[in-house]
Amino acid sequence: MPKRVRINAKIIVAFQGNGHHVLRNGCVIIDGSDIQHVGKDYDGSVDAVIDAGDRVVTPGFINTHCHMAGSPLDKSFIEDVGSRQFYLSGLPTMLKARGGAMTDTDRRACVDYSAAELIQTGTTTVMELGGIGDYVADAIEQAGLRAYIADMYSSASWVSINCKQVGYEWDEALGIEGFRKAVKLIERIDGRANGRIRGFISPAQIDNCTEELLRMSSQASEEMQVPLALHTSQAVFEFQEIVRRHGLTPVEWLESIDFLSDRCVLGHVIYPAGHSWVNFAGDDLAILAKHQASVAHATWVFNRRGVAMESFPAYLGAGVNVCLATDTCPQSMIEAMRWSAVVGKIMIRQTELSTAADAFNAATLNAAKMLHRDDLGRISMGAKADLLFWDTNSTFMVPLRDPIKNIVYNATAEDLRDVMIDGEWVMRDGQVLKVDERAVSRKLQQAGERVWSSVDANNAESMDELSPQTFPDFE
Ligand SMILES: [Zn+2]
Repeated sequence: MPKRVRINAKIIVAFQGNGHHVLRNGCVIIDGSDIQHVGKDYDGSVDAVIDAGDRVVTPGFINTHCHMAGSPLDKSFIEDVGSRQFYLSGLPTMLKARGGAMTDTDRRACVDYSAAELIQTGTTTVMELGGIGDYVADAIEQAGLRAYIADMYSSASWVSINCKQVGYEWDEALGIEGFRKAVKLIERIDGRANGRIRGFISPAQIDNCTEELLRMSSQASEEMQVPLALHTSQAVFEFQEIVRRHGLTPVEWLESIDFLSDRCVLGHVIYPAGHSWVNFAGDDLAILAKHQASVAHATWVFNRRGVAMESFPAYLGAGVNVCLATDTCPQSMIEAMRWSAVVGKIMIRQTELSTAADAFNAATLNAAKMLHRDDLGRISMGAKADLLFWDTNSTFMVPLRDPIKNIVYNATAEDLRDVMIDGEWVMRDGQVLKVDERAVSRKLQQAGERVWSSVDANNAESMDELSPQTFPDFE
């Protein structure tokens, strides 16, 4: 890219005052990796002009909870099954079987595939929680994405006791060692790739961490000024376990150990006090709002199991900073926005709440606030040039009157034509530029076949017992 570029477009979703506005027939001036100007016109000199024609230009989306190194292999496996005993959670059984069968080769195949999938579906900044952070950093740098990367750690892991109870195998020293390694990862990768790669702290799950480990984590987040992520209130068994241990809800317990802050992003707080599935008195939302802690809302992973947040607009109304995320597959922020808005309406039985604006803001500005980044999630002077270019003439995008409603409720991934991150093109006319899509898809299929056969060979239950085929084989 030449140094200073002017992009003219029919519609630009530009930031003004304290929110997004729709700028018609305007221009964006990009200087290197930054946006220098956005407005109706610009009279300074530029090195090149790009005519984006009829495209809608929006800020890129911030995906606040992603497991690039595993989620793609949830596909074709995790759907339509759930254990009644664990209130439909797949954590202690399905995900453990899948995760246990994966090798590092499989995880790398997932990461490479995810980089392409994320770009094609609107993520420009991803928060990756996993365990192979150095490999992820290399893949992110190569693909041109912006990322926050954490290696998760914990003091315990789940065990299913006779498929009736979730047990915990504790190794506190391993948790401390994992924390130390996670801090070293941040020191190694933070600032790489022109600052596109940053690190963050992520103790894995609230029920799998000791109080000491959580206190060390929040202190490190404060000292290093990095985000702090933790799976919290993500399963009924987990909620009940924390109540049993501490006599407090998970959110109340985090408050009591000084874990909550404005750098804290909890995945997924789907079961706070008051949720009908836990039916437990309390006001967790008020606690989150008081501490300005954020929620990474990955609606789809719950919706497909018959579970919903109660409700997305109620959290916003309580003052909780709700961000969006994909968590599982598909890793599409377009789908994340659509399902968040629609399920929010269903849960509150209203159509005028849980709007396209709520979903779009959650995918952009709310996440930027959590990251303490006023240079992300918006098209404004001084922001990073992370831009999405949408087709306005496609089957799904016409007729176009309100670009945000069309994107949230109608767009397909194919309508996202071009993606720029940090002032560089990473997708042009639907083609991801720095990842070989066909090669990574082929490798993911090979990884899937290897993992499925390994589940068959090493697990008490076979693949088809864990996840029956939808239709039987034709004979
Ligand atoms: Zn997760």
